[in-house]
Formats: sequence, structure tokens, C-alpha cells
Amino acid sequence: MIGGNIPTHLPEREVMSDVVELSNFIAGQWQPPQCQHWIENFSPATGEHIANIPCSSSEDIDLAVEAALDAAEQWSQFSINERADWLEKIADELEQRTDEIAQLESLDTGKPITLARNVDAARSVANFRFFANQGREFESEIFEMSDATNRVLYKPVGVAGLITPWNLPLYLLSWKVAPALLMGNTIVAKPSEMTPMTASLLAEVIEDVGLPRGVFNLVHGNGLDAGAPLTAHPDINLISFTGGTATGREVAKSASSGFKKLSLELGGKNATIIREDVDIESMMPGIVRASFLNQGQVCLCGSRILIHESIYDVFVEAFLNAVNDMIVGDPADDETELGALISAAHRDKVMSYIDLAEEEGGDILCGGGPPVGIPDAFANGFWISPTVIDGLTPDSRCATEEIFGPVVTLHPFSDDGEAIEIANMTDYGLAGSIWTQDVDAGSRMAEQIESGMVWVNCWLHRDLRVPFGGVKHSGVGREGGRWSLSFFSEAVNICVKRE
Ligand code: NAD
Repeated sequence: MIGGNIPTHLPEREVMSDVVELSNFIAGQWQPPQCQHWIENFSPATGEHIANIPCSSSEDIDLAVEAALDAAEQWSQFSINERADWLEKIADELEQRTDEIAQLESLDTGKPITLARNVDAARSVANFRFFANQGREFESEIFEMSDATNRVLYKPVGVAGLITPWNLPLYLLSWKVAPALLMGNTIVAKPSEMTPMTASLLAEVIEDVGLPRGVFNLVHGNGLDAGAPLTAHPDINLISFTGGTATGREVAKSASSGFKKLSLELGGKNATIIREDVDIESMMPGIVRASFLNQGQVCLCGSRILIHESIYDVFVEAFLNAVNDMIVGDPADDETELGALISAAHRDKVMSYIDLAEEEGGDILCGGGPPVGIPDAFANGFWISPTVIDGLTPDSRCATEEIFGPVVTLHPFSDDGEAIEIANMTDYGLAGSIWTQDVDAGSRMAEQIESGMVWVNCWLHRDLRVPFGGVKHSGVGREGGRWSLSFFSEAVNICVKRE
């Protein structure tokens, strides 16, 4: 059923023998790319050609920015409460289309349908509702002096350029679109060329709810032809980018000459620390989830497991049992826990790290290649079974560079101090988790880990009010809750002196 199961009722998409043709959405109009060049999009699970998307260029970006500029004045005139109402309408409409979002996301990314339904679709709706509520609760600050009153105004920044990756397509796009709209900005969004489907669905929803034309514009395309002109465009005032660290560096260079507001959410190489007092049995599902959710393609995944030496063998045996029990297979099946990797190129990159691990002296304890016995329908898909590697030094390339796949490395430590030292041994600083019965000790350790987020006895347990972002090479700035509202606005002080 995969590959043939594409909804065909969407009016803006032309469906030709199961290959969907997507368009850009600019100034409220669905348009082909000016250059008439297209990018082929493939199903990760089967390798089938499932869509053609615009290979947009600077001409399309120029049109989209112009549309966003034209709409800016009208959009900024709405009150924050009115804009919150628009977000709520978008959330309602997305919620109606939950099953469709889940199907498209699973088809486009190769992720299990249950994950797409429970995480991607649910969170995309929740993002719009959350920021609608943030808008309704939003209060500007007043600072009184003995002879004057200071008022802080939060003005729109202008046109926001939003660039997103392929691993959590609508989840991450909605995380940017909702606060950007709420604070009065207009938008040009460029989603990953590998996962275009749900961005188009969002544009359809935005059209259906009747958001004024030009407030939200969508330009499909690759990084060099569409992403780079967007970040360089002189009328883009703000860039929110989520993606790899190397790309983030290019985006930062491009944005800096125009002094654009910039948020960079980049890669990670996160440590999962297993203290000697952990309750292995009850914590194991959480630890496996942290290792392999979305085939390990979550920036927050714990790809290095640091284990106290006194429980090393017992833990590794229990971990391998749990990993071997995972159901890898048809993403459309409700039972499936692990699906395919995003592309042939990414599968090859992950495999090259597994080869490197062997060269670096690692021992592949399980996985290391495509799943055995994968049905014929998936023979041309991009698969790697969950892979566990032992015996690497913590400073090896496989243990310090981001692999972003279903691969974890295991490392022993002798005390908390050594665990922290190993955890901090990479250029990245996004997230981490600590598993222990002594939550005070775990919390103290958490403070010493160089990363933006640390979970104790859980992982990816998200309260949308908290700051989200990385340190070191994992990013610049914070999004989430009031940090998003602040990033997507310009705080302006008006000081009125009393007589
Ligand atoms: P990527 O950097 O290759 O691409 C991300 C986006 O940037 C895509 O839309 C791409 O087309 C665009 N792009 C590429 N080159 C560009 C350029 N020169 N200028 C402007 N845009 C350009 O990343 P990816 O492979 O899509 O995603 C995986 C990476 O994203 C991993 O490193 C992962 O850790 C990271 N990520 C981080 C977070 C976070 O919140 N920190 C969340 C998800 C993913």
C-alpha cells in the first residue's frame, strides 16, 4: 500500500499516476516554480518516486518576499488576540486532518504511522493551540520610575524566513509559523526538499481558514537554490533555521551582513548517562526510546550511552534484548516501532559511520546493516536496523560526530565526574539524559552538562513553555514559550516623563 496511498482529493496538487506534483504558495496563489525545474521526491520505505516538487530559485523567493512585504502592514494591524484567534482556527483545521497529516508524514519520512500520528500530527496541532494561548495571556511590561513610566512594546520584526529539516517536518515548521504569525510577522517558509508534503498541507489549511493573502508564503526547493537566496534576501528581517550545524554556519554567515535576527537550532551528539543505581527494568523503555525514536533521527536522541562500569555487562545485556525486540518494518503498520531512513544518501552516510566504527576498533553488537527478512516491497527502501556499538573510545569520531541514525555507541565510566567529562567531550551541546534512583545526584550532574536541555529519568518530555535550544555548536538562541515570543518580535521601550 505504501506509495499508492496518497490522498488525491487535494485541489492544488496534480496527481499523475500516483506521483504528486506540488506547487509553491505565494500571495495566496498556487504557482509552479518560475524556472519550471522540479525535484523528484522518493518514499524512504520503498524507494518509489512519489512526488515532484518545485526546484525554486531566487525568482520565486523574490516573489514570496514581495508578497510577504505587501501583507505586512495589514497583518500587523490585527491585535495579538485576533491573531491568536487565527492560530486557533488553523489548529482546528489541522486537527480535522490529523489522519491525513500522519499518513503524509509517514509516507514522506518513512517513520512509523503511530509516531506520525501521536507525535508529528498531535504536536503540530498543539503548537498552534499553545501559541494561541500564549498570545491571549501575553502582557506587555510596565516599569515605573519615580518620575517616568516605561512601557515595553513588542512589535513585529517584519518578514520571517523559516527553514526546516526533514526529520519532524510539520512539527518543526508549525513550531516556527505559529509564534511568527502571533507576533505579527509575515512569513516565507522553505521546508526540506525531502519532506515537502505536510508543508503544502499547512498552506492549504491556511488558505482554507482565509488568512489574508501573502501573510504565509511557501517556497519549495533545495538549500542552495531556494534556502540561500532566502537567508540573503535584504527584505528578510529574521531567520529561524533548524538543520545541520554545517548548514547553520552558512546561514549565519549569510544573515550576519544584514544584521538579521537569527535563531539556529542545530545538530547534537547527546549523552545518555546510566548511573550505578538505575532501575534497569523500569527505565529501559525510556532509554531505548531515547536511543532510537524516529530511527535515531531526532536531534535530541541519546546516541552515546555512558554506563557505570559496575553495571556495564548487566545493562548491555538488557539493552540488547530490548533493542532486538523492536519491530522494524512497514511504516504503515500500527505495530511498527522503527521505519526507514530518509534517503539513500543518508543511509549511505550512516553506513559509512558503521564502517568507520569497525576501523576505529568498535564491536558491532547488533544491527549494522539492513534488517534481515525485510519484505520485497521494501527492498529498494533505505533501511538500517538498530545498531549498537561497543569498544570505541569516547573521543573516537563515531562517538563525537553526529551520525543521526539508528546507531548508538556504549562507553563505561567509573564515577559521576568521568561521566560528565565524557558527556562534554564533543563540540555539540544540545541535550542529554541521566537515569538514576537518586534524583538529587542526577539533578546536580545535569547542571554540569554542557547542553541546552537535560532530562532526569525521562527524555523528550516537553513542556512547551520552557526554553529550547543548544549551546556550543548545537545552536544560537532559544525558542519555546516566551523565548519564541521574544525572538519573533522587537521589544521597544517607550519612556514617558511625568511633569
Ligand atoms: P540540513 O542542514 O541539510 O537542511 C536543513 C534545511 O536547510 C533544509 O530545508 C535545507 O534545504 C536547507 N538548506 C540547506 N543548505 C542551505 C543553505 N546554504 N542556506 C539555506 N538553507 C539551506 O539538515 P537536514 O539534513 O535537513 O536535518 C538534519 C539536521 O537537523 C541534523 O543535524 C539534526 O540534528 C538537525 N536538527 C536539529 C534540531 C534542533 O532543534 N536543534 C531539530 C531537528 C533537526
